[in-house]
Amino acid sequence: MTSSLSTVSYIGATILFILCLGGLSNQETSRRGNLYGMIGMTIAVVATVFGVQVTSAGLPYIIAAMAVGAGIGLYAARVVQMTQMPELVALMHSLVGLAAMLVGYANFIDPAVSVNLTPAEKGIHEIEMYLGVLIGAVTFSGSVIAFGKLSGKIGGKPLTLPARHWLNLAGLLLVIYYGYAFVNAHSVPEAMTPMIVMTVVALLFGVHMVMAIGGADMPVVVSMLNSYSGWAAAATGFMLSNDLLIVTGALVGSSGAILSYIMCAAMNRHFISVIAGGFGTDGGSPAPAAGGAQPAGEVNPILAPETAELLREARNVIIVPGYGMAVAQAQHTVYEITKVLRERGVNVRFGIHPVAGRMPGHMNVLLAEARVPYDIVFEMDELNDDFPTTDVAMVIGANDIVNPAAQDDPTSPIAGMPVLEVWKAKTSIVMKRSMASGYAGVDNPLFYKDNNRMLFGDAKKMLDEVLIVLKS
Ligand code: NDP
Repeated sequence: MTSSLSTVSYIGATILFILCLGGLSNQETSRRGNLYGMIGMTIAVVATVFGVQVTSAGLPYIIAAMAVGAGIGLYAARVVQMTQMPELVALMHSLVGLAAMLVGYANFIDPAVSVNLTPAEKGIHEIEMYLGVLIGAVTFSGSVIAFGKLSGKIGGKPLTLPARHWLNLAGLLLVIYYGYAFVNAHSVPEAMTPMIVMTVVALLFGVHMVMAIGGADMPVVVSMLNSYSGWAAAATGFMLSNDLLIVTGALVGSSGAILSYIMCAAMNRHFISVIAGGFGTDGGSPAPAAGGAQPAGEVNPILAPETAELLREARNVIIVPGYGMAVAQAQHTVYEITKVLRERGVNVRFGIHPVAGRMPGHMNVLLAEARVPYDIVFEMDELNDDFPTTDVAMVIGANDIVNPAAQDDPTSPIAGMPVLEVWKAKTSIVMKRSMASGYAGVDNPLFYKDNNRMLFGDAKKMLDEVLIVLKS
């Protein structure tokens, strides 16, 4: 492929990526957005693999590596459950970070890379390599820890080392000091020590940053690592002089940063303290381990037939889905119930909290999969004021996002987080299997309110029973 055809293909791919992001910003256009992204990525890969930078001797290796990667990707896409998607995404982010690190080291060791560069270009290239490895290492280790936390392999309790902010500051100073030594080194062996020390510090910083984050603050870190992975890809683009990778990385990095900002607003956290890392542990007692919360009163259980009766008699119903709906894969039954109720003239709407589930947009994806019409799916802010005029608020496998302690208890780890005020409805029904706490590991006073009923059991099973009664 000629270099001008490569350039045209790269411009085409860039435009498609921008259209993809634009499409993904709206549920109705998201399928089209995905299609643009897939076409753009295919063009980008073909133009790179058959571009001028790849020699014919290297081609078989690249094709073999792509076949292995595609095989693993295909296998993962087939076997991974929808509930495991967030941890898979974290794992993917870690691979972007690892790639940036490896490309940085390969560039650094390969003497051919800087042979034709002027001293000024060489200096810039060294800074690119140093920053690329730095961002890649933080992204890699941070994402591996995020994977551990999201999959439950590492506990959600924040690790608060004494003087942790000073530790972070010391790490930053070390990175700057060794960066200076790296740029001023005269040979690869001389520059190796600063490079290795910085890599170790960056890896430790990534681990420390994510370990210090409390359970309920994980959404912000997930979107931040998404952004970091974009910047790591952009850094790789600089090192490889690949314009498309720079643009694509910048798109992912900046859209991830915007998402982090939105998540911060949803969690009521400050963006700056998020960037500094180790947030979400001040101003509240650390969350106890999941399931460890103590009951604080009597609860009123309800059975499926009574739930169906309440729904049948209601005029306004708001359904609040959470992580448990994803676990139970209950979204299709939820929609069946919605259809039956709507046919009977009941006004049914869905209330989506920005951090419901385990990844941004988790509930929207599930509801779209079940073909729930978009015009009855609302964001938290759009219907939070409507609960006082709602007859039944049906909470399906959600917990933290409907916890009144966020408003009433300033010592709660989730204090200040905006929540869906389901307790203001005439009756709220919480569907879950036990009294266990949610991801943040805090007890939920909603369960003990007089107007609340607990429908214990697997959400899918319970909803199937409700549907049978509603149809009878
Ligand atoms: P929660 O984790 O707070 O609660 C989910 C509830 O679902 C649990 O209490 C569990 O109770 C119940 N559940 C689990 N399986 C089933 C089942 N099969 N049937 C019925 N119920 C079930 O989820 P929320 O969606 O309310 O809140 C999200 C939490 O996750 C927040 O704390 C958020 O900060 C965090 N988070 C969000 C991320 C994001 O990007 N959205 C990323 C990382 C974390 P029981 O075991 O008793 O059934």
